[in-house]
Amino acid sequence: SVALPIPHAEGLPPEVIEQVRVQPGQGVSGWVAEHGEPLLIEDITRDGRFARRERSGGQQRKYTTRSLLSVPLLIGTEVVGVLNVNNKASNAVFTERDRDNLTLLASQAAVSVENARLYETLQRLAVTDPLTKLFRRNYFEEQMDAELGRSRRYRRALSVLMLDIDHFKRVNDTYGHQAGDMVLQALAGLLRRYGRKDDVIARFGGEEFCALLVETDPDGAKLAGERIREAAAAFAFDVGRAEPLKITVSVGYASFPLHGEDGNQLVARADLALYAAKHGGRDQVRGYETGLEMPQEGDSDER
Ligand code: GH3
Ligand code: MG
Ligand code: MG
Repeated sequence: SVALPIPHAEGLPPEVIEQVRVQPGQGVSGWVAEHGEPLLIEDITRDGRFARRERSGGQQRKYTTRSLLSVPLLIGTEVVGVLNVNNKASNAVFTERDRDNLTLLASQAAVSVENARLYETLQRLAVTDPLTKLFRRNYFEEQMDAELGRSRRYRRALSVLMLDIDHFKRVNDTYGHQAGDMVLQALAGLLRRYGRKDDVIARFGGEEFCALLVETDPDGAKLAGERIREAAAAFAFDVGRAEPLKITVSVGYASFPLHGEDGNQLVARADLALYAAKHGGRDQVRGYETGLEMPQEGDSDER
């Protein structure tokens, strides 16, 4: 199991909440997490099992514990958390009755914690593309609007990058749909690796991806686009064949505020730039520029 952070506390100094990560088996909470049983300690200074280590920092030393109750938050036999109370307001020590009351409260709290976890899982599934584990388009668009708000307020640049695999239909036709899926997954991995921490990377559609590059102007977007284009062209995609598969990608970008004011406009213009990259021979990066237009009916970009 993993270290327990402190998600909520009353009356603890903030530095303690920030810094403390309870390891399973460590200290009182760790013991309770590991054993799944409540623990009542009348006076921790006299309890040999939980020797207190001297904490550093003046603030922290002001916080001392004597009498302590710690109960597990249980869903079935799984510990989903630990609830601690200490230092009764009356200064009296905790009793077995206190322990039983807290255990009852904990059983209700555990249900709430579990509901919150389920909700989080559902939320994550709702915004995640199952094949690539990248975000879905709708989440991308939500984030883009939120980031655009920030960019306007703080006068920061923001770029939208659209990427489409070149001649992907051939991959499916030649190697099968499953091989195509493996390429999509591997490319998603490359995008994640090349993205920065705050970038929002999404699968926009079939073999089309988009990235929201925060605090990135057109020069930065071009650089990011080139990096990912080169990485994709250099990558040997393992699709379970003797020979790894090679692909190229085309990239278009548009930047706030130079190329567009709102999200729809930026996406549409990044898309125009992507089309220009396709039309220009694929395996290239293009930025939006005035005069770029979508092809008319009957035009062909095949070469
Ligand atoms: P271009 O260079 O112009 O982009 O050519 P293309 O063949 O990549 O473009 P086109 O839009 O004609 O074809 C895209 C193909 O992507 C069609 C479809 O077979 C494939 N595709 C879309 N979604 C998936 C998917 O989830 N898995 C697989 N394996 N293929 C997909
Ligand atoms: Mg394509
Ligand atoms: Mg496409």
